[in-house]
Amino acid sequence: MKVKIFYLYPDLMSLYGDVGNIITLLRRCQWRGINCEVENLKVGEKRDLKEADLLFMGGGQDRGQRIVGNDLQNYKEEIIELVEDGLPILLICGGYQLFGKYFKTKDGVYIPGIDVLDIWTVGGDRRMIGNAVVESPLFGKLVGFENHSGRTFLGEKVNPLGKVLKGYGNNGKDGFEGAIYKNVIGTYLHGPFLPKNPNVADWLISKALAYRYGEEVFLAPLDDSLEYSAHNAQERRAYRAKTLHI
Ligand code: GLN
Repeated sequence: MKVKIFYLYPDLMSLYGDVGNIITLLRRCQWRGINCEVENLKVGEKRDLKEADLLFMGGGQDRGQRIVGNDLQNYKEEIIELVEDGLPILLICGGYQLFGKYFKTKDGVYIPGIDVLDIWTVGGDRRMIGNAVVESPLFGKLVGFENHSGRTFLGEKVNPLGKVLKGYGNNGKDGFEGAIYKNVIGTYLHGPFLPKNPNVADWLISKALAYRYGEEVFLAPLDDSLEYSAHNAQERRAYRAKTLHI
């Protein structure tokens, strides 16, 4: 069996260990004998996203997001169509913002998104930084590290990924973190996210296999004791820190 991942804009969109998400997907496939291939997509390159079984984009700085946001417009219609067909996608922070309607930065720069997710983001003066803990109805407890000025708001067509137990989440106010629509997950959690939340990695792999082969594939369980000890350590660390009111 095979899974092909496209890593969107790795040079401009990868912060706080985001590449660890790719490594996790790769290893968890390899450990199960699934052949996993990763291709990078950079600004100015034209790629056929129909070859992909899974897309990933990490976080970025406002400046980089402007360049990437522009290039991403070339793929807008194609990605919208693939998402409706069930293509799984993981988006972290800046990537999450660019898949929404728009991101208006704190300097007033308007970056149009590709409107895959019914969300919009407005930059604020106070950055939201720290370790976060989230309770997700689909995945249980999730942990990660957030650092963003953007405040994201959810429309009716998406569900939140979860509720914030500790940290800021989408906007520091409404108590929600991330968004989920079809097989697309957007989240503010870096750190990286998947090594410490391996059940999300497996969800993405099984969606990618189902997308490629048209049927559910059983994933052999792995020993995740190390992953969950990292998860628990990060959770403890999150509760030791103070979250400021914004
Ligand atoms: N530049 C965006 C913000 O500050 C995204 C940051 C990130 O990806 N960590 O909101």
